[in-house]
Amino acid sequence: MTEALQRFATLHPGPTLVLLGMLGACVGSFLNVCIHRLPKGESVVTPGSRCACGEPIPWWCNLPIAGWLMLRGSARCCGGRISTRYPTVELITALAFAGSWWLLPPAKACAAFVFLSLLILLAGCDLADMLVPDAPNFVLVGAGLMASIFLPELQGQTEHALPAMHRLHSAGASLFGIAAGTAVVWWVRTVGTVLAGREAMGEADIILCAGVGAWCGWEGALFCLFGGSVVGVVTALPGVLSARIKGEEYDGVVPFVPSMAVAGALWFLRGPELVRAWNHWVTG
Ligand SMILES: [Zn+2]
Repeated sequence: MTEALQRFATLHPGPTLVLLGMLGACVGSFLNVCIHRLPKGESVVTPGSRCACGEPIPWWCNLPIAGWLMLRGSARCCGGRISTRYPTVELITALAFAGSWWLLPPAKACAAFVFLSLLILLAGCDLADMLVPDAPNFVLVGAGLMASIFLPELQGQTEHALPAMHRLHSAGASLFGIAAGTAVVWWVRTVGTVLAGREAMGEADIILCAGVGAWCGWEGALFCLFGGSVVGVVTALPGVLSARIKGEEYDGVVPFVPSMAVAGALWFLRGPELVRAWNHWVTG
């Protein structure tokens, strides 16, 4: 089965990317349900999807991306607006799946499907409700440790003669990543809270950074925090500048979980290249 799939992927790289993109869009559709329901503590399985007016939604309106486009963003039953969040999450997940397959070896790409889906879910919850549920965040940490044991390549473990040693080293690297992620955010949070006089970062940020450490090791955890800060500042900049020009006080909050998620994803897809590019840039 896996051999047949691999042969298909080698022979038809283009259609494989399209199929994975479609799979990603379907996963994104499920992530939308999770983003909508998990922060409210509702089940993600039952009931079936319903419009805000209470009418059940027919299956074809639920087709990822295409459903929203066919309805032109308004519900068929009551004409209510359907948020652009739905097709956006589906599109991002589709690109994440196709992009991972394009950039990574097959086994690591399959791990990326899980890792990136969880990051999209957590970032989506933060953007939609400013509320990051603990459950999927802890799943990110646990899944990262499990994935590192099953796939030691995740932690760059390919050298040992004994496969068991491989897995042990990889699990160790993952645990160290969890510890590094927890410690560094906790430390920044403590200093930041003292300096700012109010809570600087949430507990969700600590668990997320630990989760990225579990999947990517300690370098990934550091990049998640510091790279995430850069992403956060860059995305908040237009708002800060326009407030300055209008002479108002900037009252927006930098959504830190999505920024850290972007940095974590970047590291997973292109970490070593990022470091090499940085070294090249610094040393000239
Ligand atoms: Zn409706």
